Amino acid sequence: MNDALFAAREKLKTVTPLKRDCGKICGARCCRSLDGEETGMLLFPGEEEEYRGRPGWKVLDTERGPLAVCPGTCERDGRPLACRMFPLLPVIREAGTAAETDLRAGTVCPLARQGIRAMDPAFVEAVKEAGALLAADPAQRAFLERLAAEQEELRQMKREWRGKHV
Ligand code: SF4
Ligand code: SF4
Repeated sequence: MNDALFAAREKLKTVTPLKRDCGKICGARCCRSLDGEETGMLLFPGEEEEYRGRPGWKVLDTERGPLAVCPGTCERDGRPLACRMFPLLPVIREAGTAAETDLRAGTVCPLARQGIRAMDPAFVEAVKEAGALLAADPAQRAFLERLAAEQEELRQMKREWRGKHV
């Protein structure tokens, strides 16, 4: 695991979207696969080695990169970076790195639907700082740029969908 990835994971080791356990509000929806579906989280560059071969875990090779499928419960210390950041994402902007709500999260996460202001500011700040650490590393930065491009595509699709249904 490279230094930037390690530092970003450490930054998000203890903070959570709310000061209390938000999983108790929604029944930990982001940790449950839908019936008949195997859902997982994209791994950041260098994270794959942590999860391949870990008992109860699977790493699938997808077009978007290695995708981890977890057993449905985990220790905070061992969870992938995407889970530590969920439902936010660090996005590289001209003015620096920002934390924004992941547009994919709204379908499962009530906090994502309420928006970033519903979340603990310490969590939002930690995601932003983790993003700045990642952005300083070329491989991690390229991965963040890919995620940002996906978010932009989603934003565009949502706009088009809304345009057709007003
Ligand atoms: S779905 Fe959202 S509110 Fe529920 S546990 Fe996950 S992050 Fe927390
Ligand atoms: S790794 Fe942990 S936090 Fe992430 S989806 Fe699985 S159980 Fe939830």
